[in-house]
Amino acid sequence: MDSILVLTHQEDCSADLTKTSLEAVTAGLELAEQLGAQLSIGAIAQDALKAVKVLVGTHARILSVSGDVFAQARYASDAAACEALCRAAQATIVLAPHSSRFARVMGGVSHRLGGCIDTHVSDMHTSTEGAAPTFEVTRWFYRQRIEAVLSRASRPWVLLLDAGTYAAWSATPGAVHAGEIAVEMPVQRTQVTGLRAPKQDEQTIRPEAKMLFVAGAGWTKKQPDGQIHLAEAADLILNFLHTSGASLGSSKSLVDQGSDGQPVLPFLTHLNQVGQTGSTPRHPKGLSTCCHGEEPHVVGWRFVRERRAISLDPNCGWARGKADVVYVADAFQVITRINEILRSSNRLP
Ligand SMILES: Cc1cc2nc3c(=O)[nH]c(=O)nc-3n(C[C@H](O)[C@H](O)[C@H](O)COP(=O)(O)OP(=O)(O)OC[C@H]3O[C@@H](n4cnc5c(N)ncnc54)[C@H](O)[C@@H]3O)c2cc1C
Repeated sequence: MDSILVLTHQEDCSADLTKTSLEAVTAGLELAEQLGAQLSIGAIAQDALKAVKVLVGTHARILSVSGDVFAQARYASDAAACEALCRAAQATIVLAPHSSRFARVMGGVSHRLGGCIDTHVSDMHTSTEGAAPTFEVTRWFYRQRIEAVLSRASRPWVLLLDAGTYAAWSATPGAVHAGEIAVEMPVQRTQVTGLRAPKQDEQTIRPEAKMLFVAGAGWTKKQPDGQIHLAEAADLILNFLHTSGASLGSSKSLVDQGSDGQPVLPFLTHLNQVGQTGSTPRHPKGLSTCCHGEEPHVVGWRFVRERRAISLDPNCGWARGKADVVYVADAFQVITRINEILRSSNRLP
């Protein structure tokens, strides 16, 4: 019988477990039920006893690793903690969120355990097609164009779960018994002296936002009056992001302009790029503006369920079946009006 361990860790700036950790908990609960397997949950945190209170009601065996050294990510301490938890749980299947903290260490941990690892897992299920039920996982390859179903005989099998693929476990925190696991700490050469991050309203990539707002190259093109309106475009986009709380995505053509020496919107980087050679975010809704909607861009919208686009071109890619609603209109005018409405409903100046 398989023994499942879900690994979790605390937030960078708070004592709580991360949302993606709680998504992995839900995945673990569902999988344990499907496989009839024993479930353990391991928590790595400065004060793990406090962090695991949210796990009340999971009826899983809770294991923890605590201490100041685990407040922040560091390869040596995190790898040692994960290895100790996996050994204590005698895990044959290890589920962990695909966070930067765990993605960095789990390959090494898997090697130390003599196991194997798969990343970007988006689904798990049991196949009953063969003589015996087989545990299978799903992941995407080639920028979400090919979906693969994998199974492996070797154990332990470490699986890093993509964010947003399971609902986060939630419960009113209560008393939970956790077994503290001792970790043999290696020599630490890295000292974490603090975190530097942009202010929240300077951060345009917001994975938790309900809406993705995509800016295309049209914002920087000559408009019907024969002029480029870059400052106005920047102002409209930033105001929209500020009032709506949307996350900012971009087409490749727009973010590439900076490196071509052309004027570009200063708050955009390649990290904003959505598409085949960009990201594939998971927002429930998306609004594309001044973007043509070509396949290499739209492939990044695979997980965006409700799609709308504003384009001057009635023959753009969005109009050919890639969006639910296309407004054939001038995005400068439409976003100006939307900003006015948002500003008055949010009572912003
Ligand atoms: C291998 C490969 C990988 C690629 N990967 C990616 C990727 O990851 N992501 C990506 O985005 N692209 C990618 N591309 C590029 C992609 O094919 C397109 O070239 C790109 O998406 C076009 O960007 P765009 O739609 O913003 O610009 P354009 O094609 O220039 O379209 C601009 C649009 O804005 C409209 N417009 C102009 N002014 C207004 C206005 N006032 N109001 C409304 N609409 C207006 C125009 O009508 C036009 O439709 C890739 C291409 C290749 C070959």
